[in-house]
Amino acid sequence: MLGSSKRRNVAILGSTGSIGCSTLEVLEGLGEPFRVWAISAHQQVDIFEKQIARFRPQHAILTGVAEDQIDTRNASSSETIRHFGCENLIKVVADPEVDIVVAAIVGSAGLESALEAVRQGKTLALANKEALVVAGPIMTDLAKTSGATLMPIDSEHSAIFQAMQSGRSIAEVKRVILTASGGSLRAWPREKLPSATVNDALAHPTWSMGRKITIDSATMMNKALEVIEAKWLFGLDPSKISVVIHPQSIIHSMVEFVDGSVIAQLSPPDMRLPIQYALTFPERLPGPARTIDWTQSFSFDWTPVDFERYPALSLGFEVAAAGGTSGSVLNGANEAAVDLFLNQKIAFTEIATLAKKVLDYHDFDPSPTLKQLMNLDQWARKETNRIAGC
Ligand code: NAD
Ligand code: MG
Repeated sequence: MLGSSKRRNVAILGSTGSIGCSTLEVLEGLGEPFRVWAISAHQQVDIFEKQIARFRPQHAILTGVAEDQIDTRNASSSETIRHFGCENLIKVVADPEVDIVVAAIVGSAGLESALEAVRQGKTLALANKEALVVAGPIMTDLAKTSGATLMPIDSEHSAIFQAMQSGRSIAEVKRVILTASGGSLRAWPREKLPSATVNDALAHPTWSMGRKITIDSATMMNKALEVIEAKWLFGLDPSKISVVIHPQSIIHSMVEFVDGSVIAQLSPPDMRLPIQYALTFPERLPGPARTIDWTQSFSFDWTPVDFERYPALSLGFEVAAAGGTSGSVLNGANEAAVDLFLNQKIAFTEIATLAKKVLDYHDFDPSPTLKQLMNLDQWARKETNRIAGC
């Protein structure tokens, strides 16, 4: 039981995904004073109906299915109010009853609802890194004025956040070191990468995640997005961010302080831990996440990143340094390129090539409006398809 019994109504946006399902598991374990207040999904109606029956939320939003396409006559939870269409995400997030919003929608589709949570001064437990990549400065400025709290769910950023607790200010931080698994193809010879199939790229060695982030992990675009995410979450200059390959995925990231001390956070690869920490901070509670077995011997490896093998990662540092419109363009181009790869329209290595072309080609603006960023997101997707000839 949490020390304070203050009510915590949680809205989980993207409840049927990998992070969404893990969040529900964590909340089930936590019990009172947490309550599943709202859930949303795009199209996975079967899982969604089971979640409604089990958690009996006040609100359930389907964003990608019309009301007449589903049959709720036999629905077991009559107290749940159902909504259809993505505009309802904003309405439910703005509900004064909602205390914590878990942003677990994949891609920039999650941007508007995450921004609304910040605008309303809620606690935003953020898995949807793409929202920060697209609109980092807008989101962080908005949080300053509304008083919203941004809690990272991404395991690396949760690790950094935890390690930061042992320093007093950002001035004491020499650098942060993000760890990367290297993804499903890390043992492949570089010349074989163009022939990687969708199944090859989806076979992640240490994490079980949604399809888009698993492909991002194989290209290391995921780490590129995380470099940008770290910049905005912690107010870090990109020159203070490093990346190392750590294949075991047990050290989730590290902070090196100016005195030379390095503080790391360790645990088996299991998202239920950072999700729970984002919900219960500053308290720690027992939870369902796997723990290290100290009776077993194990060893840690880390190796520097070969930027030629992972060109996407260089784009992350470039965009973190440039800011402005570049995050929106990189993210939109990557989302479109990953879709093309998943639909077998382009080769694996073309994902990073296309993202770079679209990024280099765009009309850079250092201080865009939200509307501009959203238009550029659409533009980058169209350009990616055009250049790919699709
Ligand atoms: P997923 O594909 O498993 O789930 C995505 C969820 O978003 C589903 O509930 C789906 O219904 C919903 N969704 C999809 N498209 C939508 C749209 N257009 N509008 C509204 N809802 C939509 O993805 P995931 O792996 O759970 O990842 C979710 C987010 O968390 C991503 O931003 C990812 O980068 C981040 N993240 C995931 C992990 C992980 O372990 N899976 C780790 C760190 C960060
Ligand atoms: Mg991560």
